[in-house]
Amino acid sequence: MSPSPLSVVVTGANRGIGLGLVQQLVKDKGIKHIIATARDVEKATELNAIKDPRLHVLPLTVTSDKSIDTLVSKVGEIVGSDGLNLLVNNAGIAVKYGSKTEPNRAQLTEQLDVNTVSVVIVSQKFLPLLTTAASKVSGDALSVSRAAVVTISSGLGSITENTTGSALFDALAYRMSKSAVNQFTRTFAIDLKDEHILAVSFCPGWVQTDMGGQQAQLTVEQSTSELVSSFNKLGNEQNGGYFRRDLTPFQF
Ligand code: NDP
Repeated sequence: MSPSPLSVVVTGANRGIGLGLVQQLVKDKGIKHIIATARDVEKATELNAIKDPRLHVLPLTVTSDKSIDTLVSKVGEIVGSDGLNLLVNNAGIAVKYGSKTEPNRAQLTEQLDVNTVSVVIVSQKFLPLLTTAASKVSGDALSVSRAAVVTISSGLGSITENTTGSALFDALAYRMSKSAVNQFTRTFAIDLKDEHILAVSFCPGWVQTDMGGQQAQLTVEQSTSELVSSFNKLGNEQNGGYFRRDLTPFQF
């Protein structure tokens, strides 16, 4: 177990898994700053109802570079010279379509823009703050208390375990977006090894959210409590990996 990160950013935190992650993170009194993002901060009722002076609710639309730049600058003011320890890329969509000739170009582009391209851009733009945090510690040990990018992927991103194709729901575009984001995680982890920034992908399980549906196996609380406890166990051995919420490995 590593010590708590001093600062955490969670994207897409106004509902579902993102909100659940924030509800778990506020229980960790070792964290100094929790930055939870929502597309529309005014409408993030449940997030705004969490009364904790360490919580900062800030706007972010992940597909807008301007929005990301504004967020990075505000987070920089909050964390100061400590930098940012942990970025959780959670915001995501599952584009709906119906016919065998879909997803069409627009649907594929939207799906990949939110779940893949935006994860890459958000992570790149937070790199200076993550690098600052990583440089505060000497040696080669990696952890979320040093600097880490955790991406909420999906088991549907696994190519090895894909035996159902587009069944379950219109999963082709969604599967592609999560396979690609797993490749980002592995590549980013290798590229940033010398900067001592850890990167992993997680599947949260099938969770009762607007995306997962109410028939899903897990409550948000069940999924996010396991996820947060796994975050604190991440180290060099897990760098670049793809895991279930309990840290058992997923096949890419
Ligand atoms: P929800 O649909 O409940 O919530 C999605 C969140 O992402 C919302 O906060 C939403 O904001 C935000 N979001 C969507 N698009 C954007 C955008 N362009 N910019 C900023 N924020 C955006 O989904 P879940 O909580 O279920 O999913 C969270 C993550 O977990 C996703 O990456 C998903 O793929 C993954 N996942 C979920 C599973 C499940 O069973 N639920 C299973 C496997 C993976 P807004 O409220 O403004 O729309």
